[in-house]
Amino acid sequence: MNLHEYQGKEILAGYGVRVQRGLVATTSEEAVAQAQKLSEDTGTSWWVVKAQVHAGGRGKGGGVKLAKSLDEVRDRANDIIGMNLVTPQTSAEGKKVHQVLIAEDVYYPGDSEPEEYYMSVLLDRQKGRNMIMYSTEGGMDIEEVAEKTPHLIFTEEVDPSVGLQDFQARRIAFNLGTSGMAFKEMVKFVKSLYTAYEGIDASLFEINPVLKTSDDKILAVDSKVTIDDNSLFRHKDIAEMRDLREEDPTEVEAGEVGLNFVKLDGNVGCMVNGAGLAMATMDIIKMAGGNPANFLDVGGTADAARVEKAFRIILRDQGVKAILVNIFGGIVRCDRVAQGIVDAYKNIGDIPVPIIVRLQGTNAEEAKKLIDESGLKVHSAIQLKEAAALVQELVG
Ligand code: GDP
Ligand code: MN
Repeated sequence: MNLHEYQGKEILAGYGVRVQRGLVATTSEEAVAQAQKLSEDTGTSWWVVKAQVHAGGRGKGGGVKLAKSLDEVRDRANDIIGMNLVTPQTSAEGKKVHQVLIAEDVYYPGDSEPEEYYMSVLLDRQKGRNMIMYSTEGGMDIEEVAEKTPHLIFTEEVDPSVGLQDFQARRIAFNLGTSGMAFKEMVKFVKSLYTAYEGIDASLFEINPVLKTSDDKILAVDSKVTIDDNSLFRHKDIAEMRDLREEDPTEVEAGEVGLNFVKLDGNVGCMVNGAGLAMATMDIIKMAGGNPANFLDVGGTADAARVEKAFRIILRDQGVKAILVNIFGGIVRCDRVAQGIVDAYKNIGDIPVPIIVRLQGTNAEEAKKLIDESGLKVHSAIQLKEAAALVQELVG
């Protein structure tokens, strides 16, 4: 699950990380009221209006704007709320903006120039360790830095048996070129950021930019957070931060009935029980020359109601030219599933594409018989290779 910038900053602040402060607004009037309130709390007289969507690169897409008066806050909020924000990280249609963060301006002039760094904590799955990645070249062009000058990005690996060590935090602060009070602040920043990452079971915590202000404070100007979904049961407060408007509606609907669904762009719809079998099925479809339209795991209990819901979700995709059902009957009996398929077919009515069903395992023969005798436009197979070849033949 991903969080909005303002939610990530709230969490960071709770762990003692200094952040660029802000308040959320959903209308331009509220934006002005929040800007006034923020000035009372922080003394700021300039503000930044920031679109809150689950996508980076907002600055480049016109979703982050400076405002030097309350009138400008109203105008910028008006521009941004309701817009379809297109950034290098969204689709061409962009993402609709429902709310903005009114943040204090932290790039004020002073004794030195403000400096932007990059920092993230993430899980390196290959090493099985958390890593802190950081660079002096933070800001809006970090992707370009990663591509053209990757040697400017440093990493610090955390040994899980001892956790992040003080000398590592100091090495990071040193490599970033900080000194004096900024050095001390950076050490504290790194340690608190890492504690926050572990504390909420995040799999990514990206702060870009981390800012050194002109008076040597270190703070988080942005935050991108991904939480491990499997940990949400022990973070009820974070689970409540989920914003369904940011997610694919079909995937949300599938999740509500316990289906694990991911949309892809091929033409063969897949319905499978078990994530491993679903992946193997997608491979076999590819090897037979086809392209999967989705990943769909109906889970352990492939009953009629779920099978019907799964069919309806797959059929919503206009690109689907055939559906391959691949069920392994271990605990579930294949004849039960076959009956579920027949019932679902009848309930939905006219299914415009051929369905190829491969049932293997307990009572597979009975299941095949049930389907063959149903008189429906459903083909059955017992071998997966046979099924995939049949799909290819039917799709053309
Ligand atoms: P992103 O583009 O989605 O990564 O959004 P960010 O939150 O990183 O903001 C984009 C850019 O806006 C930053 O890299 C800064 O250069 C700029 N920005 C953010 N906050 C302020 C601020 O308080 N004052 C000024 N002048 N610029 C800011
Ligand atoms: Mn950013």
